[in-house]
Amino acid sequence: MSRFFLVACCVLSMCGIVRPVEPKIKALIVDGQNNHNWKATTPVLKDLLEQTKLFTVDVATSPEKGSAGFKPKFSDYAVVVMNYNGDDWSTETQASFVDFVKNGGGLVIYHAADNSFPKWTEYNEMIGLGGWGGRNEKDGPYIRYRDGKIVRDESKGRGGSHGKQHEYVVEHIDREHPITKGLSAKWRHASDELYDRLRGPAKNLTVLATAFSDKSTGGSGENEPALMTIDYGKGRIFHTIMGHDVKQMNCVGFAVTYQRGVEWAATGKVTQKVPEKFPTPDKVLPVK
Ligand code: ZN
Repeated sequence: MSRFFLVACCVLSMCGIVRPVEPKIKALIVDGQNNHNWKATTPVLKDLLEQTKLFTVDVATSPEKGSAGFKPKFSDYAVVVMNYNGDDWSTETQASFVDFVKNGGGLVIYHAADNSFPKWTEYNEMIGLGGWGGRNEKDGPYIRYRDGKIVRDESKGRGGSHGKQHEYVVEHIDREHPITKGLSAKWRHASDELYDRLRGPAKNLTVLATAFSDKSTGGSGENEPALMTIDYGKGRIFHTIMGHDVKQMNCVGFAVTYQRGVEWAATGKVTQKVPEKFPTPDKVLPVK
């Protein structure tokens, strides 16, 4: 590099014309066991983050069974994306995961990751709400959105269900949060499972978006939480119920809320611009 170029860069940099390159956000996707198609969905989760040019992404894949030797160094990352629904981890790996989030690590709970670890108390606090795995009233309330208010419903019953896959409208009920700010209030999601009747401790939980789970599709007849954030220690958690498989992820609404949610979980801010094209309540907008 010539001396002239260096000097010119320094001058431009001081003037604010050339900004020093920001270090990228380090993200780790965790997979390896899931009753879902993790081998196909992890590359999509990775690609969506890389498209933003904000992240470098590694993947930690657990053994197919058990967790022998599975010890990702969570603390090397700003954010962990959970695409895992499987066997319990060792107490050592659980402890390092809890430490990571408690000390300010970001966490993203993607679709069936909220089915995982039904008996792990700290994990259930991190996800806020979860489903299946024997979850019921002992695990916490249902969270409902009724008449414009979030309601904790303690009634008895199963935790976790969904009707048949269908397109549904996601409504941002919190439009001031960095993840949703500037996005339209309602958008139609690609045909997907609409998780309903999730239950959990729901501590420090904010519902950003809901979707109406119609009984005619086998749903609950309630507005179900679709996008959430949870505070756990100093850590920030973003939870999306959407994205059953690659086809269901092919939706600009899913992609954009995921990309923004991961950045927020990692840094507490969203620097991504609001996209020019975003689905309307009437029409799904595929990514490709
Ligand atoms: Zn699913």
